[in-house]
Amino acid sequence: MTVVVAALLGSAYALGRSLVPDQVPPGHSAGATTSADGPHYADQPSGGEPSGGAPTGTPSAGTGPAETGQDGSGQDAGTDNLFGAHATSGSPRLALTFDDGPDPRYTPQVLALLREYDVHATFCVVGENAQNHPDLIQAIVNEGHTLCNHSWHHDVGLGARSADAIRSDLLRTNAAIRAAAPNAPIVWYRQPGGAWTYPVVSVARQLGMTPLHWSVDPSDWELPGAAKITATVLTQAEPGSVVLLHDAGGNRQGTVDALRRILPDLTARFELEALPTDPT
Ligand SMILES: [Zn+2]
Repeated sequence: MTVVVAALLGSAYALGRSLVPDQVPPGHSAGATTSADGPHYADQPSGGEPSGGAPTGTPSAGTGPAETGQDGSGQDAGTDNLFGAHATSGSPRLALTFDDGPDPRYTPQVLALLREYDVHATFCVVGENAQNHPDLIQAIVNEGHTLCNHSWHHDVGLGARSADAIRSDLLRTNAAIRAAAPNAPIVWYRQPGGAWTYPVVSVARQLGMTPLHWSVDPSDWELPGAAKITATVLTQAEPGSVVLLHDAGGNRQGTVDALRRILPDLTARFELEALPTDPT
């Protein structure tokens, strides 16, 4: 069984590499991070891997998934790396998603802006942050937003671990969320770095969570500045878009400032939604 899983992983990795040989942007290739303060939780491949070298435990990191946002359709070659993860909202409505929190510096600012524009969104939270900031988990839930599991410690390589290890990580994260908000539905899972594998998708589904990717990615974790984040989102947004933003994992003031510019425009052009808590 182990051999079979390993073979599947290897095949999936090889397939992904062959389909998207040159779509990895420079900033994603070898951990040459534009640095951010604080822990590195952004949805990016982990650093230190030899670019183009042998996989060493993070089979999908550094390959195509992060690129699927470029055309926003979810129909490009990168889709093959998603293992069935949803890259769009499944409706004409646009979904804003905020990853890696909660963070006491930025999550309250994001919540305030969403409240100001009467917008509901989806928060993909990291288990240890949920444990450390239960009040913010409660605020997210109480204000009508949707929760999404984003692993315990933002493990980009989680998909390469055993099914038991993946299950343990996801359950630990859900337990931390439920310790803060006992009745909150947690029906979405987003793999850190978008580094999907067949095992991580399977385990998430077994636990009642639908894998969630994205279709618009302004790479706000690279700190391009509010103007660029704003321009990317407003240019690429279309009905059904799932927009990837971060409210933690570094200095996210640029994201907060961008959100202040993005919300008036998006709310004029689209209906925005928190992803449903009863996905089919
Ligand atoms: Zn993340």
